[in-house]
Amino acid sequence: MKAAVLHGPGQISADDVPDPGIAAPTDAIIKITACCVCGSDLWPYRGVTQRRGRIGHEFIGVVQEIGAEVRTVRPGDVVIAPFVYSCGSCPNCRAGWTTSCLVGGDYGFPDRDGVLVDGGQGEYARVPLADGTLVAARVPADDDSIPALLTLSDVMGTGHHAAVSAGVRPGGTVVVIGDGAVGLCAVLASARLGADRIIVLSTHPDRALVAETFGATDIVAARGHEAVAAVQELTGGVGADGACECVGTGSSWATAIGAVRPGGTVGYVGVPNAVQDGLPLRDMFDRNVNVRGGVAPTRRYLPVLLDEVLAGALDPSPVFTWSIPLADIAKGYAAMDSRAQIKVLVRP
Ligand SMILES: [Zn+2]
Ligand SMILES: [Zn+2]
Repeated sequence: MKAAVLHGPGQISADDVPDPGIAAPTDAIIKITACCVCGSDLWPYRGVTQRRGRIGHEFIGVVQEIGAEVRTVRPGDVVIAPFVYSCGSCPNCRAGWTTSCLVGGDYGFPDRDGVLVDGGQGEYARVPLADGTLVAARVPADDDSIPALLTLSDVMGTGHHAAVSAGVRPGGTVVVIGDGAVGLCAVLASARLGADRIIVLSTHPDRALVAETFGATDIVAARGHEAVAAVQELTGGVGADGACECVGTGSSWATAIGAVRPGGTVGYVGVPNAVQDGLPLRDMFDRNVNVRGGVAPTRRYLPVLLDEVLAGALDPSPVFTWSIPLADIAKGYAAMDSRAQIKVLVRP
């Protein structure tokens, strides 16, 4: 089969790789019908992290084959794969922290038995712990809702985690830092949770437009101190009730902490990279600023968000601004890297 292989910084191609097979009785083999490039895939692509080889972790597809112990999905089912695999039954999974599953893991790396788990950007993937991981989408493989459903694999679940962690509730005010797909999904999630005022920091008019479609009430085209000052002014000098930190850098953290009111909460989902100086604990102490969040347990949120997408009440699909065949994967990464596209959908 063909699958995306990262050879080094800036070098990715769709290569011939071995077809996956059932390696454990809890495995399922998925024929991937839609997948996508994630902002976090850009870290190894840029050489910020040293990863090589198979890549991708957001996909949807049709079950081809199942191991003898798989009960919840059958060949022919269209399924959504959350961005990590998890068992669904260990103490951490039962508590809802599926990304901390005691026996789970990441796509593109060997499983606990040393057998490679395929990356999510390819024609097929072996999914370990299929019962705990996969969620049946209950639609045909070519349904119009596929792009919206694909966001439940990561970005919509992650944006939702940011909003939940920031304590967004009806009537509240929230500021969203980050206008990538996750930040935009945090806007949509905040609107869904009933926020009255959603302030988005964006200097890209095309992204600000999507943010407004998703429910943003105010766009601040600034960064850093200037952005904090603008949020303070928009909120009567107090600050927002919550901030969704969807970037993960020192400056985005400083903005998030500066933009919330005394007693406010930063919900963070940006993968921390280059947060060198630590958090300003004394300022946070003085103003009772709370911090919640981390890697999003999207598997926990998936069933509820799935129902809303299928009911037509939730549509995160506008985050996909370009669709390409797998053979063009290099163009997809380049377009995400240059921020020419918000998120690229790949059809294997
Ligand atoms: Zn992702
Ligand atoms: Zn588990």
